[in-house]
Amino acid sequence: MKGKSWREYEPPRKQKKRHRRRKRGLQARLILAFVLFLLGYVGFQMYFHYSKPYMVGLDAGHGGIDTGAVGIIQEVELTERTTAKLTKLLKEDGRFRVVLSRDAGEDKSITDRNKLFQRAKPDLVLSIHANSGEEASAFGFECYPSPPGKTNYEKSLVFAQYIAKEMEAVGARLRGTDGVRFGYYVPDAAGNTTKLLLDSTDTQIYDYDTFGMLKNMNCPAVLVEQCFVTNQQDVDEFGTEEGCQKAAEAYYQAICRYLEEKEG
Ligand SMILES: [Zn+2]
Repeated sequence: MKGKSWREYEPPRKQKKRHRRRKRGLQARLILAFVLFLLGYVGFQMYFHYSKPYMVGLDAGHGGIDTGAVGIIQEVELTERTTAKLTKLLKEDGRFRVVLSRDAGEDKSITDRNKLFQRAKPDLVLSIHANSGEEASAFGFECYPSPPGKTNYEKSLVFAQYIAKEMEAVGARLRGTDGVRFGYYVPDAAGNTTKLLLDSTDTQIYDYDTFGMLKNMNCPAVLVEQCFVTNQQDVDEFGTEEGCQKAAEAYYQAICRYLEEKEG
């Protein structure tokens, strides 16, 4: 009997019980580890979901040698001014991260800006432009969401409607039925394209290209024509420092509304 451990004298039934207890203890620990892992995973996901800043892609139309439309002011003055003010508002809010398609003064092709957004993957895209007319009497605000049939059409439309409503609230005169329109480039036999602009009531799907900044976007995207740079009242109201600030605040409100109501 010398040299043998006490376990060997343990009755077999007791030994079995002890094994079972040990097995159960191991199972409990595994379950606990799994539950802790699950809680950690869910917690991380929730943290990631709720704390991830919402990324807004801002595109100041034209730039560099491309001044855009020229009227009482240059279109590019308006687009850069408004973009800078909107960037500031979004950054101050704390919930947003801003990605710009180009720097102020920079001349960058639409293809390159579009690619930049494709890579950066913003949650929302706003491209800022201004209109011009042959007649100085042409006026008003309009915006273009990704049109019917294109990716993110529905969400883009909702975002555009928010923008038009906010612009109307600060005094913009909406063009068309509600300030929201669809834009297409229609090719002809000679290889030229003409712009086709339709009111948002025309929800037919056309197999035409839309504006370059709205093409193939992975998120809702809207292009705004803030006002007519060829119309004095428009420029006074939405082209000056104060006017661009007013427009930037309207876009900011629309982005907040979209984020709160549409994305939840
Ligand atoms: Zn433009």
